[in-house]
Amino acid sequence: MFSNSTISTADIPYVGRFAPSPTGPLHFGSLLAAVASYLDARSNNGKWIIRMEDLDPPREMANAKERILEALDVYQLYSDEPIVYQSERYPLYQAALDRLIHNDLVFPCTCSRKQLSAVDGIHFGNCGSDISSPDIEFAWRFNCQSINAELNTESEVSFNDALQGHFKQSLQQDIGDFVVKRKDLLWAYQLAMVVDDFQQGVTHVVRGIDLIDSTLRQNMLQRALNYPIPHYAHIPVACAENGQKLSKQNLAPALDLENPAANLWRALSWLRQEPPENLRQESVKEVLAWGIANWQPLKLQGLQNQAANYPA
Ligand code: GLU
Repeated sequence: MFSNSTISTADIPYVGRFAPSPTGPLHFGSLLAAVASYLDARSNNGKWIIRMEDLDPPREMANAKERILEALDVYQLYSDEPIVYQSERYPLYQAALDRLIHNDLVFPCTCSRKQLSAVDGIHFGNCGSDISSPDIEFAWRFNCQSINAELNTESEVSFNDALQGHFKQSLQQDIGDFVVKRKDLLWAYQLAMVVDDFQQGVTHVVRGIDLIDSTLRQNMLQRALNYPIPHYAHIPVACAENGQKLSKQNLAPALDLENPAANLWRALSWLRQEPPENLRQESVKEVLAWGIANWQPLKLQGLQNQAANYPA
């Protein structure tokens, strides 16, 4: 837990998770999110689970799931529960969508990406799309004003991030009516993640700051579905030399499976935990044990990005 709480954290249930998308093998940037979420869970006597977010087959890479799980195994980041695959959970997402439809919190939309590019891709307000013909393709969008009745279109919504502080966005300019089920019938990440975090009892979300923009959308869905809102902590992202976030898309090299202990040491160092020099030679188990015993997430407070090779 990212606070200097005076109550014993042992009594507070803690469930954390790491939720990779199988669009490529793990790289150093994804290891940081895995390690930070793992250390935070373990240092709070919490559970830590792995969830495979395989929702988008066209973007997946062959064997990525197996490679991700193999890497997590080599780094001894073991899930406390059987690994869940989102591709096997469509009925849960459908049930959540049915509730949203029933409560009139979503609307069907046929707008194209091209149409929306004129408004910076932000859809705001029910467009009243006609879906009366059976072969019309449409998405389901969450009506962001529906649960923010007290707010006007100029309003901002916000949440408190344990590391990044108060984070706010404009309902109309930044969020809009986001998609929960896509036109191609695939489930949107926002809905699936919220349903799964709830179903799996996740209490703490520790992930990269590149996902902070999604948090307020997810909070709206959690409110709309009457789910509790987890604690959020967004860690900085690792950047390549050109300043871009290290990612599968910009072909960050796959994690080295030959030297997991040394890489974990580097991850701890990157996470500003200042591991002692002599820990470098120890086993994966020892490095993780040191990381758990000495985890001080607030050393990352306010930091948004940092070179992948920090400290140089
Ligand atoms: N599956 C998402 C990704 O790999 C992460 C989701 C999350 O941590 O909320 O970017």
